[in-house]
Amino acid sequence: MKRFSTILMILCTFLLLTGSALAAEVPTQRMFTPDEAMTQLKAGNDRFATGHAIHPNQDRQRRLATTAKGQHPFATVIACSDSRVPAALLFDQGIGDIFTIKVAGNVMDVDEIGSVEYGVDHLGTPVMVVLGHTHCGAVTAVVQDAELHGSIPQLVDNILPAVKKTRHDHPELTGDALVTAAVTNNVWQSISDLLMNSPATRARVMNGTLQVVGAVYDIDTGKVDWLGIHPRQADIMAAAGPAVQTHAGTAAEQGMEKAAHGTAAVEKAAHDTDTMEEHDALEIEKQAMPEHEAQSGSSPLWFIFFLLVIILAAVFMKTRAKKSE
Ligand SMILES: [Zn+2]
Repeated sequence: MKRFSTILMILCTFLLLTGSALAAEVPTQRMFTPDEAMTQLKAGNDRFATGHAIHPNQDRQRRLATTAKGQHPFATVIACSDSRVPAALLFDQGIGDIFTIKVAGNVMDVDEIGSVEYGVDHLGTPVMVVLGHTHCGAVTAVVQDAELHGSIPQLVDNILPAVKKTRHDHPELTGDALVTAAVTNNVWQSISDLLMNSPATRARVMNGTLQVVGAVYDIDTGKVDWLGIHPRQADIMAAAGPAVQTHAGTAAEQGMEKAAHGTAAVEKAAHDTDTMEEHDALEIEKQAMPEHEAQSGSSPLWFIFFLLVIILAAVFMKTRAKKSE
């Protein structure tokens, strides 16, 4: 009888530990602080540029997890459409890691700002990168005053101020040197356009949940040259007007903000924010996902838990039977 009690106690402890582990099961993707997100991007680019890419989060398991649980990217990146600038690849990231906007000349017009707001405000990415690149054809076309057709003139309109400023500040520059300087100024121009025209982005920057940084990717070396935040960020934000947070953000992101500011109101906002993608993800999980695939995505801890319950029940019944003999 004493032996049975010992076995029972051990099993109960196991059950308790397994139950706790199940309750504390971590989500597939966790939220980063702006600094942590920057570290991830920098480390990823270092791996890529030095030929040590690990190609994370690119397997079937990640695909299924991000379908079932929704996307929680840790960075929003706007980059040029140039085929030599593959955003997720050059940061050595995978499925669901980077919310990417690709547009020629990485310009920031209405549609691009809307897309950025989806990334930084709706999905709550802690970092927003405007990524220019060396040998950019769009910037070169403006520098060379090339003849443009179709809708391209309206597109490069956004690049013109950067090229004008470069010419004004550095009249000595010509050729490739002028293009290189204009690429950098074009990054600052895009950041300025974003901050000026997006109250939601300004609100995120002001409450410390978002960092907007510039960078230039070298298509030859594969290295990203980090430019940091806009040198006139405070002035631009002050001139732009009030910052308005239009979206309450994801629950995880709200938790981060709550931890940073200790506001009780955030809790309510997080509860109210039953985001569309969370709803969609649940629907997909229920309707589209075959049952065996849905199970394969769940923790093996469940299996251990049920196994222990069965063992416990068997031991209990055997002892009862012995007692009644
Ligand atoms: Zn380009």
